[in-house]
Amino acid sequence: WPLPGEHQANIQIKSYGLGAVLSATKASAGLPQAGDEYDFYRSFPGFQEFCESQGDGLLHCMSQIMQHHGCRSHVRDQNKLTGLEERFDLVVDSNDVILERAGILLDEADGVNRNQQPVMPAGFQPPKIVVSSWNRKGPGSGSRSETFRLLHAKNVTRPQLKFKERIDNSNTPFIPKIFIKPNARKPLPAYFTNKQIRKERPEDLDVPAALADLIHQQRTQEHVDDMFAHPYQYELDHLSTQEKLLSKPEPQMYKPMAETKFSFIDSLEDLVALNEKLCKLSEFAVDLEHHSYRSFLGLTCLMQISTREEDFIIDTLELRSEMYILNEAFTDPSIVKVFHGADSDIEWLQRDFGLYVVNLFDTHQASRALNLARHSLDHLLKHFCSVDSDKRYQLADWRIRPLPDEMVQYARTDTHYLLYIYDCVKVQLLDFNHSQPGLLQSVWNKSKDISLKKYVKPIYTEESYLELQRKQKKSLNTQQLTAFRLLFAWRDKLARQEDESTGFVLPTHMMNKISEELPKEPQGIIACCNPVPPLVRQQVNELHLLVQQAREMPLLKVRKHEVMLFGPHDTSRVSESDLLHLSPGGKLDAHACCASYKKLCFILKEVETKDAQKSLSVAQMKARQITESFQNPFRMYLPSKDVHVNKNAKFDPSSKIFEISKRWKLQSIEQQQKEMEAKKKAKEEAKEQARKATGNGA
Ligand code: AMP
Ligand code: MN
Ligand code: ZN
Repeated sequence: WPLPGEHQANIQIKSYGLGAVLSATKASAGLPQAGDEYDFYRSFPGFQEFCESQGDGLLHCMSQIMQHHGCRSHVRDQNKLTGLEERFDLVVDSNDVILERAGILLDEADGVNRNQQPVMPAGFQPPKIVVSSWNRKGPGSGSRSETFRLLHAKNVTRPQLKFKERIDNSNTPFIPKIFIKPNARKPLPAYFTNKQIRKERPEDLDVPAALADLIHQQRTQEHVDDMFAHPYQYELDHLSTQEKLLSKPEPQMYKPMAETKFSFIDSLEDLVALNEKLCKLSEFAVDLEHHSYRSFLGLTCLMQISTREEDFIIDTLELRSEMYILNEAFTDPSIVKVFHGADSDIEWLQRDFGLYVVNLFDTHQASRALNLARHSLDHLLKHFCSVDSDKRYQLADWRIRPLPDEMVQYARTDTHYLLYIYDCVKVQLLDFNHSQPGLLQSVWNKSKDISLKKYVKPIYTEESYLELQRKQKKSLNTQQLTAFRLLFAWRDKLARQEDESTGFVLPTHMMNKISEELPKEPQGIIACCNPVPPLVRQQVNELHLLVQQAREMPLLKVRKHEVMLFGPHDTSRVSESDLLHLSPGGKLDAHACCASYKKLCFILKEVETKDAQKSLSVAQMKARQITESFQNPFRMYLPSKDVHVNKNAKFDPSSKIFEISKRWKLQSIEQQQKEMEAKKKAKEEAKEQARKATGNGA
């Protein structure tokens, strides 16, 4: 086997799996259908026997799979008639467990591992250690200190307190921070350069509120396109790779780290000097270190820059508001900026500093194109530089100041060798292709795509909790799901307000536990959390009220796959037979009801209109209860007390809410028009028929 690379192996596994599922689905569709066809076949004893034995075999196989995953598996022993529904539930639950596990493993394989607490070097002794535990690296690693401590991040003063500009955690979309555009081929739109438009708030003007709203709307309406465009879109679209960047370089060896000049930059003066130095170069390497545990949006804590001669580390917490001056070098199309795995870096640069990159080379993309065994920076360092790096400090708390030596060393390593690696991969990309530039060009193109990425702020909607719930193991009943929704909203709101991560406010696994157990007492909530997050302790009474509110919901089981399959805007699933199925007087099955929001909305409407005329039938009552136990997906368009979107968001054309609500309005107008037209047509047809009838009569 010629080293296929993990990517290829993955593809093989996936296509094998897909093929298997496809043929199984085809075969099952080919079976005689329930009803006449099946009954006919069943009149033959041979068919009957065959079905029994196949059925038993299948059930046995399913039981084994379920047992393997630790699920209940008594599929076979139950009464065949009454137990059908329960058995179906068993299968559904097991599927959830298995898919959940697959999801977790995929996330893990993908390197996603959230909610990790920050790590600090062993020598570091901040005042008052609150919690500490030990973590040991496996045997056989280098001579550097082998232990490091997990510390409670309480010990580090919040850098946010020193920021000149307030952090905007509001539930509104991100607008670029740029206000000067160096290396522009297309000028920066007036929205960004004109402070008046940005800063002068109509509500501060001495005019009636309604007029202020109108002014605000008109002002922002004009600028919507500019506000959300990538400020360097034009320049990047028109960037072509210079000839010399497609030709084979002579790799220039890196200097030993010990002989390389190093500067820590934490003053504006030094930053300006660095920028001037960078502007004279033809390439430099960049990396960032980031902190996400004690901040809602995350903080860029360090920027490492390496030239062929020197290493720099910029204290970006200190120079946060001044970093934008580097745009002069970063957007200069004649200077190559080399990153490794720049996807997040590009977003962090925009979010925290308003920095953009024109002419990016991403060594991660190069590694992919070369189909190397692994694409991490450690692997490239080992492969090209024989450097043993360890990524233990990747999760360090990068807010610590002064920065301990070990962390400085680690951070420097991330960029020190990168320009040499850039040379090496360019050579290999050209060799790979018999000196044809195609493969190398594709890496430049991929890198450009990454630099075109736009930062998107996390936006809370009434449906956000479902996205997270979908990833959980358990299917919840209506009370539990309500608790989950309320806790999710509480956590999001508090995290924005206190500028903490949602994981710091209330980790997801604790949120699950509280939702599942629905503790009757505040003490029970505390018992679900170990260790108890400070904000949970502080607001335990508030949380207790939310859990109580959830307990007041009518109790129904919700199959989560059903909740998720039907999006609120999915009208395709409502068929006439569905509605008949649910019509008053017909059999009303809870599962069927849960299946679709759309159905519920329909029932709700029916119930509401009939409400005025007569009292509710049993079925209608039931339908109403079920409906009320759900989130109305359209609630975000209604006036609501517990939605904490920025009040102006709904009227602010820049906001997602505005966009969605406008689209929704348009849709409903369209719908009304269609209905009107249909009515008109029906009337005309009726008239026509009447005319014909009278004509015949005459
Ligand atoms: P790097 O580019 O490897 O230096 O990583 C930059 C930043 O990304 C680090 O400072 C971390 O905040 C974050 N990061 C990198 N790898 C991980 C990971 N495996 N899990 C969580 N965060 C990570
Ligand atoms: Mn990085
Ligand atoms: Zn790094």
